[in-house]
Amino acid sequence: MYDLKDLYQELIVDHNRSPRNFGEMADAERVAEGYNPLCGDRLKLFLKFSDGVVSDVRFTGDGCAISIASTSLMTEQLRGKNEEEIHALFKDFQAMVTADMDTDNIAHDMPNKLIAFAGVKQYPARVKCATLCWHTLESALADTDETTKTE
Ligand code: ZN
Repeated sequence: MYDLKDLYQELIVDHNRSPRNFGEMADAERVAEGYNPLCGDRLKLFLKFSDGVVSDVRFTGDGCAISIASTSLMTEQLRGKNEEEIHALFKDFQAMVTADMDTDNIAHDMPNKLIAFAGVKQYPARVKCATLCWHTLESALADTDETTKTE
């Protein structure tokens, strides 16, 4: 197995430096806020749907490199997916960053770029930084008004 660590690190640095889909969305259909008190990560997620699938997504926020990069990379995966597909991806992602699993055993439909976060499972405090956006996404889909907290 060749070592992809450096490549992944670059991906996280790049997405932190220039996050994709960053900005407000005036006509969002769902908005949810997330907060990770352990690290101070805050984010706001905006979603729009068309024919049952995500048609547009944006976010704003302030946080550590892991949280911003994770949100940026997550938003790249959502367009064209329905809620069921998003729940499945969330479950796979959570399993990847919490379970003791070889990169080889990660679900085959896990997008390559998201595998960049497999390494955070060695740093339990960082797992919350990486998953905050996904938890916030879940509450956006559930349409709750409460701020999602990791604690
Ligand atoms: Zn963080």
